[in-house]
Amino acid sequence: MTQERFTGSFTQQEPIPESGIEAALAVLRHGRLHRYNTAPGELAEAALLEEEFAALTGAKYCLAVASGGYALGCALRAVGMRAGERVLTNAFTLAPVPGAIAAAGGRPVFVEVTDDLVLDFAHLEEQARATGARLLMLSHMRGHLCDMEALVALCARLGVTIIEDCAHTMGAAWNGVPSGRHGLIGCYSMQTYKHINAGEGGFLISDDAEVMARAILLSGSYMLYARHRAAPPPEVFEAIRLETPNVSGRMDNLRAAILRPQLPLLAGRVARWAALYRVLEAGLEQTPGLRLIPRPAAESWVGSSFQFSLPGWSDTRIGAFLARCGARGVELKWFGADQPVAFTSRYDHWHYAEPTPLPQTDRVLKGLIDMRLPLTFTEADAAQIARIIRAEALAVGQAEEAALAAEARAVRLPD
Ligand SMILES: *Cc1c(COP(=O)(O)O)cnc(C)c1O
Repeated sequence: MTQERFTGSFTQQEPIPESGIEAALAVLRHGRLHRYNTAPGELAEAALLEEEFAALTGAKYCLAVASGGYALGCALRAVGMRAGERVLTNAFTLAPVPGAIAAAGGRPVFVEVTDDLVLDFAHLEEQARATGARLLMLSHMRGHLCDMEALVALCARLGVTIIEDCAHTMGAAWNGVPSGRHGLIGCYSMQTYKHINAGEGGFLISDDAEVMARAILLSGSYMLYARHRAAPPPEVFEAIRLETPNVSGRMDNLRAAILRPQLPLLAGRVARWAALYRVLEAGLEQTPGLRLIPRPAAESWVGSSFQFSLPGWSDTRIGAFLARCGARGVELKWFGADQPVAFTSRYDHWHYAEPTPLPQTDRVLKGLIDMRLPLTFTEADAAQIARIIRAEALAVGQAEEAALAAEARAVRLPD
């Protein structure tokens, strides 16, 4: 019997919509790529993009910048993080998150994550009290939202300001409130593998006028901030414009032009991701040894990636499982590997941060498997991927049992 093999590409995103290509060509043809380089009466693509993303999320203000990581660092500076200040953040996140904290001069303090891949509130409280940290860089890693109302209440009690890393939650919501709207600032990424694609790019949103004015000045607005549209009025800038450094990291009109036509497509993409996610989930339900991550009823998430765990599996068994899935075209990533691979690294690989023992996170990440879910996949693809994963999880289990039985026989042989 020949085994089925998946032939799709886990890194192939959809093309840029034709309207985005046309808009990009128009910018290339007129040549005014810098956001403040506008003809008389012209509105820059970057300014329009900000206005449209603010409307989409219901935020008062929005700033588009060079990358998601830049947005995070800019947010920390905009809220007045001091040099050497400790910043709480999820131990399960992507390298640019602690990287942004370090680049802005802060020191990451990692907080344990739960089996359901969200921040552990008890440990958050413990770390906040132990360090006196005033800032939380909350990473909605792989799109998992914690109980946002409970978190907001806890942080208010602790005097901790929340900055949200929504790189994986653009289009997600908690009890109907868009992700990024619970914290003082929400940050997003428009890097190719996220939910709208300009290659690179980031957003900050906020309702706080002074914080946003600071962010705009920081991003490199010079004295041209009045050309922004989703921005506070010029008088808010007056008081701070000479004391705020220019940490150049602007969005340009070319990428803004590519992004604007994608905003109205976001809701449709989220629905398609949900369908793929559901097919995978259904196909993997009740697979022995494999735990699916439960999703709370209040969470509406974006299924641009899929996680499951293999609790208690040995490294060799997980290694064999990954190799067998890989041989059948199913590319899985493992957060438990000793060495960082490609995009996947872990808190204890980031040696510039203070070492913290995090036994719970260690256990969670040891068995955590992660998969990209690009929208070039169909529901039939998702069903096939689930069949392969399920079959190989079972096969590895059987192979291990057979090996143990053989070992037991070998031990008995001398009698
Ligand atoms: C991608 C990503 C970022 C950073 O975004 P860039 O645009 O690549 O700088 C931050 N946090 C998470 C969780 C990410 O996945």
